[in-house]
Amino acid sequence: MRTYCFLGIDVGNTKLAFGLVEGDARAFHEKRVIATEPHLGAEQALEKIIVQTCNMLEMAPKPVAGIGIAFGGFVDVTRTVGLASPNFPGLENVPMVEMIRELAPGVPVSMDNDANVAGVGEAMYGKARGHREAVYLTISTGIGGAVLFDGKPLAGSQGLAAEFGHMIVQPNGRQCTCGSRGCLEAIASGTSIARMARERVRGRDSLINNLAGTPDDITAGTVCKAAQAGDELAKAIVQEVAFYLGIGLANIISGLDPDIVVLGGGVMNSADILLPPAIQLVERHLTVRGAKVPPIEASDIHDDVALWGAMALARAAAGKR
Ligand SMILES: [Zn+2]
Repeated sequence: MRTYCFLGIDVGNTKLAFGLVEGDARAFHEKRVIATEPHLGAEQALEKIIVQTCNMLEMAPKPVAGIGIAFGGFVDVTRTVGLASPNFPGLENVPMVEMIRELAPGVPVSMDNDANVAGVGEAMYGKARGHREAVYLTISTGIGGAVLFDGKPLAGSQGLAAEFGHMIVQPNGRQCTCGSRGCLEAIASGTSIARMARERVRGRDSLINNLAGTPDDITAGTVCKAAQAGDELAKAIVQEVAFYLGIGLANIISGLDPDIVVLGGGVMNSADILLPPAIQLVERHLTVRGAKVPPIEASDIHDDVALWGAMALARAAAGKR
């Protein structure tokens, strides 16, 4: 029955993605990705969202029955306002749902933070599918997460549940974008890995420099590639990141006892080198108390997972799961 279309919108810190799907199809009828450009301010990003949403609505071959939004930041408890985006200064208190509703009168609109939404996408289309209690952790510019019971994310009393990126793993450690110190995000996010490398390679001979060209071009991917090629400095950074990621995972598993943990986000393109040492640490610590360690796996749909999650929200909003 493909009598309806659904629209998914992913408001990320680096990209804005829009997807249109007909009925229960598992492929996009239309998909657009444009740069968010946080350095140019919030106004232009909101303008782009409005223009592209209008374009997508016009392109829909069937009536749009629901719209889902993945917001890259904190979302209020009513799930209608984007409160703040630590990696996008200025994108604050945006009545996102109302804004989109005005463009599509009468169409139900639903929003959640992008990590929760990605979790829903993972539960519907990825490795968490069919699991009763799953944890999804996304490691990209920042770190977010979702706790999913029967495919539905736990919200928390203020809508801030599963903010695993701001779990403290290193007391008095590195400064985090949230204002606290020693958060997992301040060590293991893509931004933090790149910054750590930039600080340490200065004036030193490292493959990281050769691969990146300039210090500004160092990314988490460069560091992991250099580590894979045997660069000592890069290996030390990967070891440190994996150590704290392992502590984070052990804490999450101790607290929630999930039956699977799935990790997505751009940094997980380097899961081969980052994940095994983190899992070893989890196994070393958790098996001490006799508990079984659940599978800890990299997502295989992470490029579009938030967009597919937004689609799942759109379908739920329309009452057509
Ligand atoms: Zn933090």
